Formats: sequence, structure tokens, C-alpha cells
Amino acid sequence: MKQKRIQKLTTSLLAVLLLMGAIPYNASAADDDLNTAKQQADQLREKKDQVDQQLQSTLADIHKLEAEIQAAMHKSNDLKQQITVTEAKLAEQKERLKGRVKTMYEGGDVSFWSVLLDATNFSDFLDRMSLLTMIVEQDNNIVNEYKATQAQLKQQQVDLTSEQDLRQSKQQDLLKVEADLQSRYHDISQQIAVKDEEIADLEAAGVAAYQSYTDGMQAGTIIPQTGTGTFAWPVPTSHTINSGYGPRSGEFHKGIDIGAPVGTPIVAVGDGTVWQAGTASGFGHWIVILHDNGVMSVYGHMYSNGVYVSAGQRVKQGQVIGATGSDGESSGPHLHFAIANGVSGGRMSYINPMGYLQ
Ligand SMILES: [Zn+2]
Repeated sequence: MKQKRIQKLTTSLLAVLLLMGAIPYNASAADDDLNTAKQQADQLREKKDQVDQQLQSTLADIHKLEAEIQAAMHKSNDLKQQITVTEAKLAEQKERLKGRVKTMYEGGDVSFWSVLLDATNFSDFLDRMSLLTMIVEQDNNIVNEYKATQAQLKQQQVDLTSEQDLRQSKQQDLLKVEADLQSRYHDISQQIAVKDEEIADLEAAGVAAYQSYTDGMQAGTIIPQTGTGTFAWPVPTSHTINSGYGPRSGEFHKGIDIGAPVGTPIVAVGDGTVWQAGTASGFGHWIVILHDNGVMSVYGHMYSNGVYVSAGQRVKQGQVIGATGSDGESSGPHLHFAIANGVSGGRMSYINPMGYLQ
């Protein structure tokens, strides 16, 4: 929880430092660029999701169509087989008919003629003749039936082929749509990759700028205004220091404790921007002001109703920003006042505040 809070503080501090131009690079513009890039990346990701959905639905249509085409092909093969069988039967039947007619009229088949010649009288001859004619007619009917079946099968085949043509042209269309969607998906993915790289670069630049700021602070190449005594005293009505900056009962007291009854006005020690105003571990409630000279002033142990400012607000030196309390780890009403010249390893770098105060 505390770690998270400190991380959040560090990030906010960076943002404020960037905004104030305390870091020697165009931080505010970089921040805008970063936000814009992040928005663009989000929009691209949304677009990518939409294209992906369209792609999935197109692919599902294509698969359905492929299954239909496959089924129609099986049906077509079945039909072809049926047509072949019918054609064979038809040819066979035609051959049979031809044989019978030939023997009837040309007299090639002895047994056929012998049927007629064995007639006992003319009436018997006519009976036998009519029987033979019936057999031929029956053969003829069978031929016609086969022909009808064949015509039906061929019609089915024609219908099937035209249906299949339709499916195949639809498949071609869908494949074109798919290819288009794939290429759009690819393009957007590339744009996202470029955007992500841009974001990473901007973030790295921000981190590097902050790092160089804190490094500069530590190395002494960036020197915040120190010990000039230009800061106002934070509790105008009380100069009682209950506990000073420095070692205290086995630990290090990183600020000064100014004793004052609950509700005593606290003022901003200098012009600046409120960076933090709210709850803080150990402090109950705190206020942190980032001053234009790069250092931060910290005010602690107020109750929630003793915090009069909010983050981001500009304050003037001497402006009442809160009232003393005894919230958090406090043994009695007082203001814990501290000065930090940066944040290092996620912690405020506190320094002796006395040199800053008038
Ligand atoms: Zn204290």
C-alpha cells in the first residue's frame, strides 16, 4: 500500500516537475505527445478489434460455404454415377430392342420365327404375333423410362452446376473480402507497433529526464535555492519548535515539529503549486507544495478539515493553506514541517529546513 502510494507520488512528482519545466527538456510538450500517442494507440487497438471481428465472421462464412461446396461436389459425383448407370442400362435396353425388332423383320433369329411358324392355325398365329409385338412395346417402354430418368438426372446436374457456380463466385468474393481484412489487420498491427514504440520512447525520455534531474540534484550540478532564508515561517502564531531536524530516539527526524493548538493557521512558506493535499501514511493528512525554485515544502498531521487546498492549486507565500491538528503518528497538536529537494528511490529526499526559513 505504502509502496504503491510512493510510486504514485513519484509519478505525480515527475508530472509536476515536467509541467513546471524544472527539467531541462520540453516536458509539457512531451507529456502532451505521450497522451496523444496513447489515445491513438487505444483507437488503433479498437479498430484492430473491429477488423478482427469482421475477419472472424468472414472466415466463418467461408468455412460454411466450403462445406456446402464440398457437399454439392459429393452430390454431383453421385449424380454422375447414377447417370452412368442409367446410360448403361439404356444402351443395354436399346440393344435388346434393336435385336428383337431386327429378328422380327429381318428373320435373323430362327427361334423367334419358329414361335410364329409353330402356330397351329391363323388365329394362333395372330395371338403369337400380338404377344411378340407386346414384348417389343414393353422393351420400348423401358427405353423411354430410362430416357426420362436420364433427362431428369441431367437436369439435376445442370441445376447443381449452376448452384455450384454461384457458390464458387460467392466464395471468390468472400476470399477477396478476407484478403482485404487481413491486410487491414496487418496494417493496423504495424501502426500499433510503431505507436507502442513511440510511447515507450516518450516514457523512457520522461524517466531519463527525471533521472537526470535527480542525478543532477545529487551530484550538485542542479542546485535548488538553499539556505537563503526566503521562505516564510509556516505557523505565523507559533515559533515553538518541539523537535528539530536530525537524530531522534534511534531514528532520524526529517523535519521540525512546531507546537500549536489544534486549528492554528498554517501558511505556504513560498509561492508554488500544491502537489499533494490529502491523506498520507504517518501524517494523517499532509500538504506538499512544489516551489518554483525546485524544492518541496511538506506540512503534516492535519485533520481532513484542516486541509484547505487541493492538488494542482497555485498558492502564494503567506497564504493560509490549512490548520494544525494531531492526526496520524502524533503525540499532540503540532505541525510537522519539512523540506525535500527531490525524490530518490521512491522516497522524498528531506533536507534541513532551517536554512530555508526566515
Ligand atoms: Zn515531526
